Amino acid sequence: MKVIDHLNSAKGPVISLEVLPPAKGKSIDSIFSLLDSFMEFNPAYINVTYHRAEQMFKKRSDGTFEQVEIRKRPGTVAICAAIMNKFGIDAVPHLICGGFTKDETENALIDLHFLGVKNILALRGDPAVNEKFFIPNKLGHRYAVELVKQIQDLNQGIYLEEDIIDGVKSDFCIGVAGYPEKHAESPNRDVDLFYLKQKVSQGAQYITTQMFFDNKSYYRFKKDCTEAGIDVPIIPGLKPITNHKQLSTIPSIFNVDIPVELTKEMLKATKAETLEQIGTEWLLEQCRDLLKNGAPALHFYTLGKPQVIHRVLKQLF
Ligand SMILES: Cc1cc2nc3c(=O)[nH]c(=O)nc-3n(C[C@H](O)[C@H](O)[C@H](O)COP(=O)(O)OP(=O)(O)OC[C@H]3O[C@@H](n4cnc5c(N)ncnc54)[C@H](O)[C@@H]3O)c2cc1C
Repeated sequence: MKVIDHLNSAKGPVISLEVLPPAKGKSIDSIFSLLDSFMEFNPAYINVTYHRAEQMFKKRSDGTFEQVEIRKRPGTVAICAAIMNKFGIDAVPHLICGGFTKDETENALIDLHFLGVKNILALRGDPAVNEKFFIPNKLGHRYAVELVKQIQDLNQGIYLEEDIIDGVKSDFCIGVAGYPEKHAESPNRDVDLFYLKQKVSQGAQYITTQMFFDNKSYYRFKKDCTEAGIDVPIIPGLKPITNHKQLSTIPSIFNVDIPVELTKEMLKATKAETLEQIGTEWLLEQCRDLLKNGAPALHFYTLGKPQVIHRVLKQLF
């Protein structure tokens, strides 16, 4: 089923989770056991992130270095198929522009279509680890909006090879990312909204937000989207904070603010259990408030402390 159909037909809040492929060399069982523990909450769909290859230097036996390309977390497409197979729930692969030629994107879309995957979260991807700014593949896309268009084209049976006539049409529901506190590279929120609107005009059917820790950011974003004519569902992305280190890593990685009240409380605490308790309470209150104010769904980033999310869901439902 498509995410948009889940949202449109839901009788209550739609719950979804994001998982990362295991690091290369690790078993998929970690994802299976994580998802097993969440099945009691009937998640409607599971997002699986995509991780591009990284250029690294590997030391040779003679002491010199060679540059190698390593994908630390491969397997997004296969994990989606495995999740659909094992749990009978929908999977949403993330597809990025970074590192992909348009041809490779088309091939990935064909694989996903043949596997019966109905959903894609279309993203640009972050700059590669050794790059300061995002550099698109010479034969690929620069912005997520172009990826959205390519997926929409395939939904119309339009392939890159112009001589494919009557091509099979895919049927993907396309989601895109939105940033309540603005994307890090955007000069201001208005410009960011302008480009977000383009992604929706090209065919994105819903938006999943970057994490935020103050619901006011989400409400303001929703209001601004409505005023800008963006009328698709906006799914709040949520993550618990459970340790001191995250107070600086999360803002620097994701370009989001952490509210003063939460920061103060966390800094007062020293014990790991107390910090986890504060993070649990904060997330629980965020969820309660979002549901009270009509959020259509709750999407959880599970990396880190999935047990905190589990505890929150247990208290919510
Ligand atoms: C829910 C969610 C899931 C994510 N999952 C992954 C993942 O699995 N793998 C991964 O690598 N990353 C992931 N990311 C991170 C994401 O790839 C980065 O935030 C990336 O920097 C931007 O991606 P985007 O799709 O929002 O890009 P875009 O929509 O292309 O926007 C990127 C920047 O360019 C600007 N812009 C957009 N279009 C144009 C245009 N036409 N002209 C000029 N400027 C423009 C925007 O305002 C923005 O500042 C995720 C992010 C979110 C919120």
